[in-house]
Amino acid sequence: MTITEASGWAGSRRLLRQLRDLMKGGGTAQERLDHIVRLIAHDMATEVCSVYVLRAGEVLELFATQGLKPEAVHQTRLRMGEGLVGEIALNAQPLRVADAQAHPQFAYRPETGEEVFQSLMGVPILRNGRVLGVLVVQNAARRDYADEAMEALETVAMVLAELVAGGELIAASETRVSETSALQPVRLRAIVLNAGLARGRVVLHQRGIVIHQTVAEYPEVELLALENAVAEMHESLDRLLRSAQTSGRGSEHEEVLASYRMFAEDRGWLNRIREAVRGGLTAPAAVQKVQNDTRARLSHAKDPYLRERLSDLDDLTHRLLHHLLGAQGTPEAADLPEDMVLVARSMGPAELLDYDRERLRAVVLEEGAPSSHVAIVARALDVPVLGRCRDVLKEANDRDEALVDGDTGQLLLRPGEGVSESFAESMAARRRAAEMDAAGRELPPVTRDGTRIELLINAGLLVDLPQLDASGADGIGLYRTEVPFMVRREFPDVATQTRLYGQVLAHAGTRPVTFRTLDIGGDKVLPYWTGEGDDNPALGWRGLRIGLDRPAILRQQLRAMIRASDGRALRVMFPMVSSAAEAAQARAILDLEMDRAARDGFRRPAEVYVGVMVEVPALLWQLPAVTGVVDFLAVGSNDLMQFLFASDRGNPRLSRRFDPISPPLLKVLRGIVAEAEARGVAVSVCGEMAGQPLAALALLGCGVRRLSMTPHAVPAVRAMVRSVDLDALGPVLAQWYDLPAHSVRERLRGYARDHGVRV
Ligand code: PEP
Ligand code: MG
Repeated sequence: MTITEASGWAGSRRLLRQLRDLMKGGGTAQERLDHIVRLIAHDMATEVCSVYVLRAGEVLELFATQGLKPEAVHQTRLRMGEGLVGEIALNAQPLRVADAQAHPQFAYRPETGEEVFQSLMGVPILRNGRVLGVLVVQNAARRDYADEAMEALETVAMVLAELVAGGELIAASETRVSETSALQPVRLRAIVLNAGLARGRVVLHQRGIVIHQTVAEYPEVELLALENAVAEMHESLDRLLRSAQTSGRGSEHEEVLASYRMFAEDRGWLNRIREAVRGGLTAPAAVQKVQNDTRARLSHAKDPYLRERLSDLDDLTHRLLHHLLGAQGTPEAADLPEDMVLVARSMGPAELLDYDRERLRAVVLEEGAPSSHVAIVARALDVPVLGRCRDVLKEANDRDEALVDGDTGQLLLRPGEGVSESFAESMAARRRAAEMDAAGRELPPVTRDGTRIELLINAGLLVDLPQLDASGADGIGLYRTEVPFMVRREFPDVATQTRLYGQVLAHAGTRPVTFRTLDIGGDKVLPYWTGEGDDNPALGWRGLRIGLDRPAILRQQLRAMIRASDGRALRVMFPMVSSAAEAAQARAILDLEMDRAARDGFRRPAEVYVGVMVEVPALLWQLPAVTGVVDFLAVGSNDLMQFLFASDRGNPRLSRRFDPISPPLLKVLRGIVAEAEARGVAVSVCGEMAGQPLAALALLGCGVRRLSMTPHAVPAVRAMVRSVDLDALGPVLAQWYDLPAHSVRERLRGYARDHGVRV
């Protein structure tokens, strides 16, 4: 027989009140816990209620039970991920199964006598995003637990977290990090969201918030406190927005904050919090609960847009908690170290701006994607950022020493003196070299044999534009138009785009700017464009594929570029082109817009140069045809590399496995350059390798004469260019194209050393 549920908030409120009285009552913590499991089982009409507590060494120990054999208490232990309980803890997500034993994760423990119980529902006991244990109920009969029952159990788990974290059941240190690992140096891999080196002390973001009271005495009072805090939060966000507007840090930055302010007004979110207060929680506990629930639901979402919303939600949650809890919230600014390495699961852009910028050295996120709002803002603040740094929250302790290597994507925790000193030395050397290189910004990038190399920057935000002057680059070789699209709330219309591209061209003056049409899809998501949910986004509906299928978007963009050029030269290129036919189709769309501009009375560009990104390998076999259609080629070495080596460019595990300075890639590049030269079209490289002096040296050896890179790389690449003799380099590289080696990096480094090339 199946029991179907009907349990609502009224029951849960009564249970919470009883729990509160019990928690306040006398006896040891263990006695109180024993009482609590009995109470829950009775109230929720379950035969079993058990509490597992996470102990040092990642072990879940049965601490109290009603219904399982009492002798199993403190005997039954499960590893993270083992059995259904381990699964709940590992994923930090609730689970309900009507037939537990049929579940593939079921782990049978004879000492508990649980074989007679068919159904199971369990929820993680969470505090500040960390799993402290698992609360489980079981029934002998098959039971389909209702949503309300799950809600009630989650609410109870909120209250229980207080008891578990209180330090009476187990030492408080056990609920943090295992003692052995706390002292060891640790090296973690991550992806680089913003490059650079930094050294400082870990500040665990938002760890300071502690909710002391979870059960409401008077729900009406809590509701009032909630409404006041929401109003205060809105006011403070408005103030932050106003200061962003006046600080002149560029309009995208404001867009990010404005879209976030919208989220703060989201009715659904606030209503869920109100609902939880009506269910018997205090306002802070309700805020926390809604965050836990949403996190659990969304944390496994693959959609990067949803994941990004999750960090906005974390941000708002903490913001609201601060307003509710007042001074008990974050640590005082004065208590923070002078050199902060901020560590968080994820973080919203406004939260980052709350920290004192003078003290901020780096940001490390357990989640976070290249397109995340916090990465965009951190770039504007010019601090290194690492993302997808798995386990950083588990490994890092507050005030640990941390070395952030935003060049290779690594975080070193508690590095020990020797490592720390040599890191400090390389930072100092880097600073000196950067100062020297920057001093050379007026010097032309001409090689020793007299070849002028064009050095260009990659840009995407208005905040990047001053870098054009600072670096002394020749122009913008890649303007990623999707970036300004990413930070807006809706598709910018033709007028907005025209203004934006006009600003870029105005800033560049006589220096060339190459606009790339929208390259969305993959990990680049627009808040207002859900795409198709590709299983394999890097290989999915992205770049020009979307442009050709949805020509209105492409046409609007080209229209805006033509209008913005206002009689000047226009350079435009298309991303993710797979065939010459696609290039021809895109060019035809541009021609349509040129005709339209003339009809509508706009000044047409003086000259139009059309290019394609070479990043899909199939195009390599149509170069003769494609060079007949376009004026220039731009090699997107990031994507070309990922597709040639079948190696995800965002996967930190693979980031050092394949080397761009390898015979296959160099041979491909040499082939592209030779074809372009033969056909008289220009060629540039605009992936990351163009900004790494040694890799850029390899590019020069292949015949590339135009490099487009992240702005901060320009000085070092210029120094390399000025120290190299291409006449000697080309023939040496030519001998390496057919070597069976995985990489020729060390050979090239040796060459540079022997020939005095600065890399
Ligand atoms: C590339 O793929 O190398 C490139 C420059 O484009 P993006 O990094 O924007 O995909
Ligand atoms: Mg690309």
